[in-house]
Amino acid sequence: MQNFQETGLRNELLDAITEMGFETPSPIQSKTIPHILSTDQDLVALAQTGTGKTAAFGLPILHRIDPKSKNAQLLILSPTRELCIQIATEMERFLKYMGDVKVVSVYGGAPIDSQIRAIKRGAQVIVGTPGRTIDLLNRRVLNFSNINWLVLDEADEMLNMGFKEDLNTILSSTSDERQTLLFSATMPKEIQNIADNYMTNPLTIKMGKRNVASDDVKHFYYLVHGSDRYETIKRVADMNPDIYGIIFSRTRAEAKDIAEKLQADGYNADALHGELSQGQRDQVMNRFRNKQLKLLVATDVAARGLDVNELTHVINYNLPDDSEVYVHRSGRTGRAGNKGISVAIVSNRDVNRIKDIERFIGKKFEKQLVPGGDEVCKARL
Ligand code: ADP
Ligand code: MG
Repeated sequence: MQNFQETGLRNELLDAITEMGFETPSPIQSKTIPHILSTDQDLVALAQTGTGKTAAFGLPILHRIDPKSKNAQLLILSPTRELCIQIATEMERFLKYMGDVKVVSVYGGAPIDSQIRAIKRGAQVIVGTPGRTIDLLNRRVLNFSNINWLVLDEADEMLNMGFKEDLNTILSSTSDERQTLLFSATMPKEIQNIADNYMTNPLTIKMGKRNVASDDVKHFYYLVHGSDRYETIKRVADMNPDIYGIIFSRTRAEAKDIAEKLQADGYNADALHGELSQGQRDQVMNRFRNKQLKLLVATDVAARGLDVNELTHVINYNLPDDSEVYVHRSGRTGRAGNKGISVAIVSNRDVNRIKDIERFIGKKFEKQLVPGGDEVCKARL
């Protein structure tokens, strides 16, 4: 699907998302929007984080909601308070030109009284954590008899957090007429059980992994001062004595410089870049492939298509400007069922790139402290 106009979503919604900068539906949105607009069949959607799932269920359901009825019609369950707030905020932005539809979010750790008042004023959309939702259900503040759509967002995360019983309770208390939509990154057995017990003949949509980095790669980033990038590589190598990896640099000169420094500091490293003759490149590659050489410092051009098995680490000395390049870099590890680690070294100046890449690859980075980095920081203070 090339644009949102084709979906037939109402103009109020189209105007709102245009203002939000949405142009092209994401792959999951292209599948779920037509389905939800046209049928009441239950849906299991499997897609990674950052692929636009909120709009994937939010837009088509908001399109179908009855603004005149003040009853709760859409219930969205989500694992954490932060996610509830995030989803509710996104819904409110979608609803900018549909002022009659109200959203209330309910979660623990906040006064229940104001949540109760908001529900009593009338809200068609409830976004809640399972715990607080049950609390309000027991107090008879929430009434699910008019719920037409029940969304389980990040269902796997809700189960990880121990909300299984709560989910069972809530699912049993809504009408069988509802359309149930389950979004999850993975499909463990417990999710299958929920689908079997509470969903009727669901359609399963599983997003392909074209852009998505391998599941066997973990993505880490270290936030450091720009001038500590080199020091960070050494510490990663020191912490991982069996390291066998590629360090990606932006330019030939940088690759050469890093490799020379590493050699001088006693590491088993060499550079691969376009300035070398073909013979030299082959020699470096042969040493690397048979593990005589443990750290290869390379530019993207030099490393293109490089397929070396069992690499433990890919290190991004700098992040590439293009997220697709990151996918290729990190895809050098975690191959053929092996586990791999992709490390990004970022400073305050490029840390924002992490978010873009997360969205593109559909995976989150984990922030790591520089191994033994306390001392470095203290020395600077
Ligand atoms: P997920 O739930 O899959 O993790 P989100 O729904 O939180 O993803 O969306 C991630 C980000 O992408 C949000 O900032 C959202 O506003 C934005 N987004 C979603 N769909 C689109 C789109 N079609 N075009 C541009 N941005 C989008
Ligand atoms: Mg989400």
